[in-house]
Order: sequence, then structure tokens, then C-alpha cells
Amino acid sequence: MPGRFVYDVAISFAGEDRHVAQELAAALEAAGVKVFYDDNEKAALWGKDLYSDLTDLYRDKAQFCIMLISQHYASKVWPTQERRAAQARALSQSAEYILPIRLDETEVPGLLPTTMCLRWDQETGSTIASAVQLKLRQKCASLADPDMKAVPPAPTIRSFQLSLDKIYGKVNNALSPDYMYGHLARTAGYLSKNVSPAPTAKDFIRPMSWLASIASTVGCDLQEAFISRYPRRCPYCIESHCVCFRTNKEPPEYIPAYKMAQEMYACKNAIIHGAVLVSLDFAKNCIASIYPSNEVIWHYAGPWFHFSKLAEEVAEVHEALSGFLTGKKNLSAVSDEIADVLAWILGAWHITLPGKSVDQEIISYYLDGCPVCRRSACVCKPYSGRPQNLFDPSVLSDALKDLAELSEALPAASSEIEELQKSLTVVIETQNYPLARITLHQVAMKLGRLREACSGTDKATTSIPIIVTVLNKLELSYRQ
Ligand SMILES: [Zn+2]
Ligand SMILES: [Zn+2]
Repeated sequence: MPGRFVYDVAISFAGEDRHVAQELAAALEAAGVKVFYDDNEKAALWGKDLYSDLTDLYRDKAQFCIMLISQHYASKVWPTQERRAAQARALSQSAEYILPIRLDETEVPGLLPTTMCLRWDQETGSTIASAVQLKLRQKCASLADPDMKAVPPAPTIRSFQLSLDKIYGKVNNALSPDYMYGHLARTAGYLSKNVSPAPTAKDFIRPMSWLASIASTVGCDLQEAFISRYPRRCPYCIESHCVCFRTNKEPPEYIPAYKMAQEMYACKNAIIHGAVLVSLDFAKNCIASIYPSNEVIWHYAGPWFHFSKLAEEVAEVHEALSGFLTGKKNLSAVSDEIADVLAWILGAWHITLPGKSVDQEIISYYLDGCPVCRRSACVCKPYSGRPQNLFDPSVLSDALKDLAELSEALPAASSEIEELQKSLTVVIETQNYPLARITLHQVAMKLGRLREACSGTDKATTSIPIIVTVLNKLELSYRQ
């Protein structure tokens, strides 16, 4: 029963490792996890019989026990008591209770060598906090419905790609890779346009979604692609904090290339077996921690460097894709380029939307399925995407008919209206974008004035609704 637990997590550690426990407790608390960490409980523990109280605590009072395993932990009397209490509890339940984090390689009695451990040097307080949140959610779900074996899918990169396949798989099957690539380039371009002054999550989700869909058409697993390319390391210098600017994209010390590949592979495996949730937020944090200099450059020189790199990577996806489709390149070449584009997009998200979770934004964006047709399996027609930055001439043709009607309703203004009709006709015929912008602006201004002039007159009831319709159509034809 979750109600009987006072804490979500109790941390068991040796005094020598207090700095780690403290950092972890702070991260867990920041993530809303109720933590037992003895420093926070001094007043509560004061004067109590610590032996029986702590035994009680580590056996009965928390849903999970995080154990910080180190040489000190193995040798101290005190943590040994805590460990025994925790192990007694672990033995009494089938689900995992002890969540071990290794600070070094020391063996601890009673902890099987096959038990999955996280490693402190490969984690941060916040990555561990997310893993704990996931554990708590899973536990909560299984308690709410004891028959339910499957836990609601956690937001991973893979589940993002799969949910897009569900929504768009059928539509995308009918599309050529080039068409999809066109959308990737288009949405990535609009992202760089909208990035200043303030991009929205949607600006990022669109290119990421096309990227994931392209990955699906060629059979690339986006999650695998990302962690193979960026296993918390830079693919060029293989450092966890990139030093490429000093070494010109090489490791700081000589290492044979094949060993570099082995090292990257080992890092990737550590992620796979590390019980971390490989979500888009995880990927975003990876990139931010490998390349802190990106943010510095952005703040000093503006976003242009970042977006010229993104544009370059987007171009390289096309090159790799063409190579792959003609049999000259293998899938891993495409996967690497796809991972690079994802890295630059997430890097920009980290800098411009620092407080926003990528996973949460994506979940709410696709909550109803396709956000345009609102179906769980999209039925939108290809090439029917709504205009975002240019204008839609068909909507303008429609508005032209309304203007003819308005001219009849307001004969006194017919010559003014005729001018507007002429300008709109030129725009529709030439589809000239600068001219369209000016025309739309002029039409809107003039109609606004006409509306003011008619209000209160006997023409109001017939003409104002038409004016409003036209104004709405102008709005609709440009940037929805
Ligand atoms: Zn590097
Ligand atoms: Zn749709």
C-alpha cells in the first residue's frame, strides 16, 4: 500500500560519501520525490534509538532504498545495519526495492554481481531523479491495477518514433523520401527563422517529427541512432566534454581508430544497461553536457552559428539518404546524419526553452493524434499542409468573391473596393510574396476603416458580416 510509506526513497550511504548523498537528495527533492536523507531529519532523529529507528526506516518506511556503494559503505558498521534492514525488506518482496548506485567497484555482501547498478560517474543527480520518478510511476501504476502487467509507456525516443508511425505510418507510406526530406528542410528552416525572438515548442517538434518519420522509412531506430552517435561522448574526440576546438576534431591523445569505435560502443552499452530512460530530454541533456560551448557561442555571437550547422547537417541527411537509396551508403551513415540533426535541434531547445521538457511538450502536441486533422491515424492529404510562412492563394480567391458581394452592399465605397480587388487579383496571378504581404496589409487596413464607417448606419447589418469574413480569410491565408 503506497499510503503506508512515509518516504518515496531512503538514501543509505557512508559518511565519507555524504557529498554524493547530499547532491542526490537535493536533485530528488527538486524533482518532487520524498527523500529520507539523515541530514534533513536531524530534529526527528534527535534522542531516538537510532539502531531500531533506522532499522525500521530502511525496512518499512520507504518505497525504495538507494544504496551508495563504495569501499566505505562496505566496511562501515552503520551502513551495514541499514543494508541488512534494506535487504531483509528486499527479500520479502518480489519487486525490486534496493536501487544500487556504484561509486566504485567494491563488492557488497548480499548484493548479487548481476544486480543492475547505476554508476555515479556516468549519471547526474537529475538523471537519477528521472529514473526514480519512472520507478515510482511504474509502481504506482501496478498498485492501482494489480492485474495490469504492462506499465504505461514511458516517454523514450523509441516510443516517440513509434507513436509517429502509428499516427502517420499510413500516410507516410505513400510519400517519397524526398517529399519527407523536403518537409524536414522546410520545418528546420522555419525553426531557424522563428528562433528569435522566441520559438515555440511546436517550431522544434515539427522538424523532429519529420526527422523521426524519415528514420522510420529507411528502417532506422532513432533512439539507437542517437545513443550510438552520442553515448554521452563527442563522436570526434570521444570526450564527455568535447575538446574538439583544441584538438581539431580528434581525441586529445593518440588512440587507434578501431579502439575509439570500441570505446564508443562500450559507452553506448553502459546507457542501454544503465536503467536510464532514453528519452528526448535525456538526449537533450547529453548534448548540453557534451557541448557546453554551444551555449556560450550562442550568447556571444547569436544563434546563427548554431543554425548554419543545423542547415549543414540537414543537407548531409539528404546526401546520406541519396547514397543509401542508391546502394552506395549503408544505413549507419544515414543514422549518424539523422542523429546529428537531432543533436543540433535539441541543442537549440536546451538554449531557447530551458525550462521546457521535450517529452512533455511532444506528448501534449500529439495528444489527439495528428494535430491538423485530429485523428489517431492521420488522413491529411500530402501537399495540403497549412500555410505557415507564405500565403494560400486559394483562400485569397475566395476572399475576392466576398469583396464583390461587399461592393454591391456598399455602393458608395465600390471604387475603393474595386482597387482592393485589383490588387488581390495581381497577387493571386503573380503569387509574388512581397506584393502579397503589402496587399494583405492594405486590404486589412482599408476594410477596418470601412467597418468603422458603416457601424451604426443602415448598411451595418449587411456589410459588417462580409467585412469580418474577408478579414478572417486574410488571416487564414497567411500564417495559421
Ligand atoms: Zn569533440
Ligand atoms: Zn492529419
